[in-house]
Amino acid sequence: MRLREKILKVLKGYDHEKIKIATLGSHSALNILRGAKDEGFETICICRKGESAVYRNFGVANRIIEVEKFEELLRDDIQDFLRRENAILIPHGSFNAYIGKLDALEVPIFGNRKLMEYETSREKQREWLKKANVRIPKEFKSFEEIDRLCIVKYQGAKGGRGYFLVSSPQDFVRKAEKMIKNGLVSKKDLENAEIQEYVIGTNVYFSFFYSPVNDRIELIAIDRRYEHIDSIGRIPAEEQLKLSMEPTYTIIGNFPIVIRESLLSQAFETAERIVEVSKEIAYPGMVGAFCIETIFNEKAELIVFEISARIVAGTNVGIPSSPYSYILFGENMYMGRRIAREIRIAKEKGMLEELIY
Ligand code: AMP
Ligand code: AMP
Repeated sequence: MRLREKILKVLKGYDHEKIKIATLGSHSALNILRGAKDEGFETICICRKGESAVYRNFGVANRIIEVEKFEELLRDDIQDFLRRENAILIPHGSFNAYIGKLDALEVPIFGNRKLMEYETSREKQREWLKKANVRIPKEFKSFEEIDRLCIVKYQGAKGGRGYFLVSSPQDFVRKAEKMIKNGLVSKKDLENAEIQEYVIGTNVYFSFFYSPVNDRIELIAIDRRYEHIDSIGRIPAEEQLKLSMEPTYTIIGNFPIVIRESLLSQAFETAERIVEVSKEIAYPGMVGAFCIETIFNEKAELIVFEISARIVAGTNVGIPSSPYSYILFGENMYMGRRIAREIRIAKEKGMLEELIY
C-alpha cells in the first residue's frame, strides 16, 4: 500500500470527535499547541527530557511525552500511542532538522510531507522555483566559478548555522577550512553546500497559508530574522578589521514587520505560482502553512531564496495576531491557531482527508 493510502486508512479509523493535536516540543510548538487549544483541541507534546519543563511551564500541552532524542518519534510504541490518541501531527522545522524524511512515520500529518522534503534538497527546491517562474539568486555549481559576492549554504533546515560569505575561489577555500576548524560545519556539509549569489537587499519572510477549505491563499504574518551577522553592525569597522571576524547566519530570533502595501501584490503573485506548481510536483500540492523567504533588491523587486512547506518559527511573532491576519479574520489569528481552525472546519465539513498526508 502506498504511504498516503496507509495514512488515510489510519485517519479513517480515528474517532473524529476525539482528534488531538500533537507536535515535537521545539521550534514553533508553543504556537501550534496554543493554537490547538484556542480551537478546542486537546494537545500532546513530545519533548526532549531537558526541555519538557518549558512546555509544562506554559501549560499548553495536555500530555507530555519525554524522549531522549526527537528521532524517537519514529519508535513503534510512540507511533502506536499517537494513533490510539487520534493524533494529527503538526510538522515544523525540527521535523526537517532532526528527522528528515518522514516515510517511516505512519501517523497522519497536517500538510504535504512530500513537499516538506523539498526543503532538504536545495536542488529540488530550485527546480520548483524555476518551474514557478519566479526570480531566484544565481547558483554556482563549483567554488571555482565564484566571481561575485556569494553565500555558502547547506542542505536542510539548519537555521543559517555555518553559512559564510565569499567573493572568490581562494576566499572559499580559506574560509571553508576555518569553518571546519571552528566546528561550525562538517566536511560533508561543505561538499554538498550550495553557493548562491548574495542578493543585496532587504530580507522579508512571508508566512502564507493555503486553505483547501476556503480555497484561497492567506497571508498570516511577515517577519525578518535576527541572526548572528546582525551583531557586526554594533562593532566599528576599524575593530572589525582587527578581529578578522567570520560572522555567520545562525538564527537567534525574529522581528515582526509590515511592508509597503504596494509590495504585497508581488508576494501574492509569487505565492500563487508556487502553489500552482506544487500541485504538479507533489500531489495533492500545498496544504496549510508555507513560507516564502525573499529579498527585495534596490529596485524593490522580489527575489525568492527559499521555500518551506510548513510552519516556520517566524510566525511566532504573529501571536496572538499579525496586522495581516487581523485584517483578514477580524479576530486574533496566528499560524498555530490557523492550522487548528482548518482542521476543525475540515472535520465539520468532512474534508479532513484533503489536509492530511
Ligand atoms: P530548534 O528546535 O531551535 O533546534 O529548531 C529546529 C530547527 O529549526 C533548527 O534547524 C533551527 O535552526 C531552525 N529554527 C529554529 N528557530 C528558527 C527561527 N526562528 N527561524 C528559522 N529557523 C529556525
Ligand atoms: P536560509 O537557510 O536559506 O533560510 O538562509 C539563512 C539566512 O541567510 C537568511 O535569513 C539570509 O539572511 C541569508 N541568505 C540566504 N540566502 C541568501 C542570498 N541568496 N542572498 C543574501 N542573503 C541570503
